[in-house]
Amino acid sequence: MWTTAMRSSFGRSGSATSLCRSSGSLVGNTTGRVNSRAVRGATWFMVRPPGRYVAGMDCYTCRTEARFDTLPPRERVDADVHWRVVHAFDSRLPGWLVLVPRRHVTSIAELTDAEAASLGTWQVRLSRALTAVTGCVKTYVMQYAEQAGFAHVHFHVVPRLADIPPDHRGPRAFAYLHAPPDERVPEATMDALAIELRGHLATESTP
Ligand SMILES: [Zn+2]
Repeated sequence: MWTTAMRSSFGRSGSATSLCRSSGSLVGNTTGRVNSRAVRGATWFMVRPPGRYVAGMDCYTCRTEARFDTLPPRERVDADVHWRVVHAFDSRLPGWLVLVPRRHVTSIAELTDAEAASLGTWQVRLSRALTAVTGCVKTYVMQYAEQAGFAHVHFHVVPRLADIPPDHRGPRAFAYLHAPPDERVPEATMDALAIELRGHLATESTP
């Protein structure tokens, strides 16, 4: 079981990247396809988003999406045609996941019925995987997209470890985010965790 004390074992992180920059856009809905086997495991990276990218977008999440095939594990823990899972880049807490739609959406109300249909399943599957990997007692799920530069809808799915101190529980868990570079979970740790989580997700049914 993981504990918050495990943070002390982490070294300095490498260069950090932003999760999202606002105002990017994806348009169209004609190129999406999904291989059901891909979602489950070895060929999951073949999944394509239901949109095409436009030049000049300044949304980091969308720009990252454009290089999906070359993303490190921490930036594509798992994915299907509608959603991608990443590890928060600036968290002190290992296992802080973020679920992002694979097209530019700034309000939950803008999600399609198909995106909405798999949203809940993703949240539950990620919670199960985090429980299996971290030993957390439950998970938190939050979505605000209020911070400047982070308007792209993103759902935080956070492991609530047994020993998280009271002043870091509930909404105050955000104290684990926006950590200075030398306090963040190192990229190598995020990648290893992503691969482990992916293994658990691959054994479950797909959304
Ligand atoms: Zn975006």
